[in-house]
Amino acid sequence: MKGFPMTVLGPVSANALGVTYAHEHLLVKPQLEDEKYVDYTLDSVEKTTEEVEFFKAAGGETIVEMTPIHYGRDVAGYAEISKRTGVHIICCTGYHKKLFMPPWFSEKTDEALYKILMNDIGGMDGMRIRPGVIKAGTSLNEIAPEESRAIEAVARVHLETGIPISTHCERGTMGDEQVKRFKALGVDPAHILLGHIDSSLDVEYACRLCEMGANICIDHIGRERADRDAFRVGMIATLVSRGYGGQVFLSGDMGKKNYLQAYGGTPGLRYILTDLKSALLEKISISDFERITIENPRRFFSGE
Ligand SMILES: [Zn+2]
Repeated sequence: MKGFPMTVLGPVSANALGVTYAHEHLLVKPQLEDEKYVDYTLDSVEKTTEEVEFFKAAGGETIVEMTPIHYGRDVAGYAEISKRTGVHIICCTGYHKKLFMPPWFSEKTDEALYKILMNDIGGMDGMRIRPGVIKAGTSLNEIAPEESRAIEAVARVHLETGIPISTHCERGTMGDEQVKRFKALGVDPAHILLGHIDSSLDVEYACRLCEMGANICIDHIGRERADRDAFRVGMIATLVSRGYGGQVFLSGDMGKKNYLQAYGGTPGLRYILTDLKSALLEKISISDFERITIENPRRFFSGE
C-alpha cells in the first residue's frame, strides 16, 4: 500500500511514524549453537517493553525491527510490545547473510525462495501481521552465491509489492556491489537502505553510496561509544554538508542484552535521542536532525 507504511498493527499514515530508528532488534535469537550468541538473544517481552518505554520517553515514535526469517523473529511479540507502548514497530521479511541463513535455503528453487517472501507479505508466521520492509544481507567483502539468490528474490518481491529494501552490509562492506546488483535487477536505489555503513569507518565510501542514489544507515551508534561515536558524528556532519542529508538514517542495531538498559546493559535505546543528539546538534541544525530521523524514514517506509 503505497503511501502507508506497514506496521505490526497494520498500515498507518506516513506522518504517524515520527522519530524513527531504522535498524533495531527487539526480540531476536540467532539460530546458531555458539555460546557467543547467548548475549544476542532478546526474548523477554517484559524487558523489551521497558526498553521501548525508555525510547518513547526520549521522544522516539517508531522502531524498525530487522530480524529476518530464521533469526528468532517473534512477530506476535512485536505486536504485543507495540500495543503496550504505543510505539510503532515495522518488522521485516527477507534473508540474512549466509552464516544466518536457514539450513533449507540452498535446497529451495528460486521460485520457492521468492514464494516464501510473498507468503510472509500476506501474513507472517501464520498471523495477519505484515512486514513493512524486506531484508537482504551479504558477507564480509563478498557476496556469496546464496546471497546473490536472496538478492534476486528480494528484488522480485520489491518490484511486485513496492515494499522497500533494507540490507545487512557486513562491517559496512559491499554496499556498492549491492546497489549494482539491485539496479541490474530493475530496483531504483532510492528504495534501498544500506545497513551498517558507519562500520566501514570510511566517509568517502558513504558519500559514494549516496551519490549512487541509495540511502545509508548509520546504525552502530552507541555500540563502540568511547572511540567511535565522535567519528560517527563527524561522518553524519560531512554527509549533511555535502548535500546527502536526505539519504541518511540513524539507529543503534542494539540487538544484544549488553546494549539495553532493561536487560542490564548500556547505553540503551534512548541514547541516540539524548547523548548522540546533543553531540550532533553541535555540528548540524535541528532541521537536518529532523530530516534524518523523521522525514527520511517517512518517505522511505511509505515507499515514496
Ligand atoms: Zn541488525
